[in-house]
Amino acid sequence: MNRNTVVAKFGGTSLADASQIKKACAIINADPARKYVVMSAPGKRYSEDIKITDMLYKAHAQAKAGEDFSDTLHGIADRYAKIIDGLGITFDLDAEIQEIAERLKAGTAADYPASRGEYINSKIIAAYLGRPFVDAAEGIFFTEAGTLDEARTFSVLGEKLKAYDSAVIPGFYGTGADGQIKTFSRGGSDVTGSIVARSVNADLYENWTDVSGMLCADPRIVKNPRVIEHITYTELRELSYMGASVLHEDAVFPVRQAGIPINIRNTNRSDDAGTLIAASLPEGVTRKTVTGIAGRKGFCSVRVEKSMMNGETGFGAKLLQVFAQKGIPFEHCPTGIDTISVIVNGSAFESRREEILREIKNVLAPDFITIEKGLSAIAVVGAGMVNVKGVAAKIFTALAEAGINIRMIDQGSDELNIIIGVDDADYVSAVNALYKAMMLE
Ligand code: ASP
Repeated sequence: MNRNTVVAKFGGTSLADASQIKKACAIINADPARKYVVMSAPGKRYSEDIKITDMLYKAHAQAKAGEDFSDTLHGIADRYAKIIDGLGITFDLDAEIQEIAERLKAGTAADYPASRGEYINSKIIAAYLGRPFVDAAEGIFFTEAGTLDEARTFSVLGEKLKAYDSAVIPGFYGTGADGQIKTFSRGGSDVTGSIVARSVNADLYENWTDVSGMLCADPRIVKNPRVIEHITYTELRELSYMGASVLHEDAVFPVRQAGIPINIRNTNRSDDAGTLIAASLPEGVTRKTVTGIAGRKGFCSVRVEKSMMNGETGFGAKLLQVFAQKGIPFEHCPTGIDTISVIVNGSAFESRREEILREIKNVLAPDFITIEKGLSAIAVVGAGMVNVKGVAAKIFTALAEAGINIRMIDQGSDELNIIIGVDDADYVSAVNALYKAMMLE
């Protein structure tokens, strides 16, 4: 791969203290292509630790409630002071903390203090690296509706960064339509990294975190699942939707549009290749049939039965309309000749159960409505399944051999996934059985 320009984003655990920051900076300095680097705020150093961003939100909540926030702010200052000391640089921290205190007293919105975690961290790291600091507020813009103003951002940020051979950019925020600081949702530094990569037309977006890539199954369910070496953007989307988490959801879109691959890497094991996310697999890499397995519990199936339904035009549309009107998105919709099931989030359905059932009866006059709760959906995802014979057979055999009853089957119309519904009680054993059969082949 041509690697002239790489954008490297480092997450909170990669920057949690001075020694982690030194590791990140050694990674940055090891490759001259890593020109533009995006920083999160210091995250947790150990599991009970508190992220700087959470402390900043806390200070804001205290200020808003008219409480004393000085201890919280001292705690934040203390963490940065240790970092500055550990890096052996000089930095005017007091001025930064003072400014936050003043704005908190003046009643600022939460976005401003929340953004200071990445702002201060990036300034410190820029000083340590000897690279220019470029404020995201000057290059990332939101629309009135609160979404990313893509056209303005890509052109302004691209122009701005062109002026520098290298730069350190804080993640997580930009400027809102009102001219004030506005943050993305939590974990949003991933999005900033993607935007920067897109704006400078990078060859690669590296996302440095604390795991050696995306795992092909949930490690809380499957023991030591394999790392996914290669995955397409679409497969990633499917797996993330079904619960696998590795990147902020919105981080894929900016780079995907421009065909820039994303490489998930581990700051603590920098030799590991991690996971490469791209539009297609690199040349010479053979596609695995199944890329990953992910799932979610707590669905509910609403099955509607009516004889001769199949001949009735618009039955399905009317049924889905009932859910749409109640603001309940449907997940799957398997159909039979005279039956149709709508699979929805169980708690969302329960909150409006009576109204929905009344409406279905009014609009469709069905013979029966059957509700089944406690359904888990497991997606077996893989672009390699397209046109491959026997994948479904293997899935069903694995589940049958594990003594698991399949309650629903749904194959995505793009043949990219097969979704199986099982009882919540069977969820863990089903995922393990599928992992063994499909991933350890
Ligand atoms: N610091 C922010 C958060 O904790 C953003 C990020 O780290 O991506 O959510």
